[in-house]
Amino acid sequence: MSTKTIEEKREYRRAWDAKNKDKIAGYRKKYYDANGDKVRESNIKWHSQNREKHNENMKKYYKTDNGKMRSRIVAWKQSGVKHDNFETLHTIFMDTKYCEKCHVELISGRGFGAHKHLDHCHETGNFRNILCGGCNIKIVHKKKINDNTINEPSITISSDGTEDDS
Ligand SMILES: [Zn+2]
Repeated sequence: MSTKTIEEKREYRRAWDAKNKDKIAGYRKKYYDANGDKVRESNIKWHSQNREKHNENMKKYYKTDNGKMRSRIVAWKQSGVKHDNFETLHTIFMDTKYCEKCHVELISGRGFGAHKHLDHCHETGNFRNILCGGCNIKIVHKKKINDNTINEPSITISSDGTEDDS
């Protein structure tokens, strides 16, 4: 007779789940294929009934490193930045400590001082440099004079998604 403790049963269950990942995924997919509408409906219902809980969860998520990365990438995409691999771009962004033009030490958060900015070409969307706010503005201004256009946005991009929303 087996007299497993709850902990042992849990461990057994975990081991089984790990060994049968594909099987479980298969069951889930089958269930979803058959009951997709029901699942979607219950998801919508859950969200409408737990809006605050959901918002609370999202708020927490956007304070994590992963959440911050996601929100930066979304902001870049919205500003028209194009890149093959945004996660790589984000790593470059995070690893850059000094402005690539004036070499000032960069700080995080929103602003136009030494705050970190991602500079990109507004025509092609190509990423160019990691700059401080001051250098980034200068580039846009110079371009305005050269092109004699006033359509150019006055800023290239904000750097940090949610760090300074205090
Ligand atoms: Zn600079």
